Amino acid sequence: MSAQLIKGKEVAASIYSELKPRIEALKKRRIVPGLAAVLVGDDPASATYVNSKIKACKKLGLYSEVVRRPQTLSQAELVEIVASLNRNEQIHGILVQSPLPKQIDELSVTLTILPEKDVDGFHPQNVGLMMIGRPCLLPCTPHGIIKLLEYHRIDPAGREVVVVGRSNIVGKPLAAMLMQKARMADATVTVSHSRSRNLSEITRRADILIAAVGRPKTITADMVKSGAVVIDVGVNRVDDSTTPKGYRLVGDVDFDKCLDKVSYISPVPGGVGPMTIAMLMSNTVEAAENIT
Ligand code: NDP
Repeated sequence: MSAQLIKGKEVAASIYSELKPRIEALKKRRIVPGLAAVLVGDDPASATYVNSKIKACKKLGLYSEVVRRPQTLSQAELVEIVASLNRNEQIHGILVQSPLPKQIDELSVTLTILPEKDVDGFHPQNVGLMMIGRPCLLPCTPHGIIKLLEYHRIDPAGREVVVVGRSNIVGKPLAAMLMQKARMADATVTVSHSRSRNLSEITRRADILIAAVGRPKTITADMVKSGAVVIDVGVNRVDDSTTPKGYRLVGDVDFDKCLDKVSYISPVPGGVGPMTIAMLMSNTVEAAENIT
């Protein structure tokens, strides 16, 4: 039996439908939610991510702007850009696209963003509120994953969830959200990483397995329990001379081999990716709603 696909585009479309009346209601109050993206340097992947975010804003009728600066930008200059966006009333959400050049300390920049405009959900104030289960702007990728589960009526309550990866933007916040005493949470969560011993023993326990590693085929079919739900966060470029670009994107999971073994699986591309953008739009609308 083949697994059911978790289609991020379909779920993202449902998020956009829910956002539309909220955006209209704000417009009646003469508020157009606005997002500013700061793009430092000329990393092509970062430029692609920022373009997709701006495209989503335009499609929804949100205001957006991109502040582009060269790789040589200083820490003080970046902090000043963020401070000026904090003061800008047209801007409700600020994101600083990573990776940043090495002369810039990412945490200092994040700390400069007003928590109420921190639509990435990376500011320690939002991280702290999330940890204690209080309202805040939630990080987009983990929140998007919970929305994917919710749409497919996969309730994590009481289930064994294994998160592979412990980054501050995916693994850690996702684990924190899933362990909350709350709706679409209440899971028994295990977090594994590059120092975990016997990874396959851990992953085989998972009713819901979430891979956020950044390495193709980290999760092979023998590492997955029959009937498990598998969410693949990874985005990896692998050489493929048959494609016009010479590469294709794959996740962290050996998708083809897992397909017949699991109950649900999210593809790459088209799984988690669209949800990250949808939740960024959702946070921007929420930030605009929160100003009054
Ligand atoms: P990081 O590189 O910050 O973290 C990777 C994590 O994987 C680390 O915790 C690392 O362990 C762990 N890890 C590395 N190798 C192994 C291994 N062999 N076994 C078990 N764990 C391992 O990555 P991110 O969390 O930022 O991103 C993960 C992936 O998700 C990337 O491919 C990224 O592109 C993608 N991504 C996709 C998004 C989307 O919207 N679709 C959004 C964000 C990320 P340790 O801590 O010990 O080093």
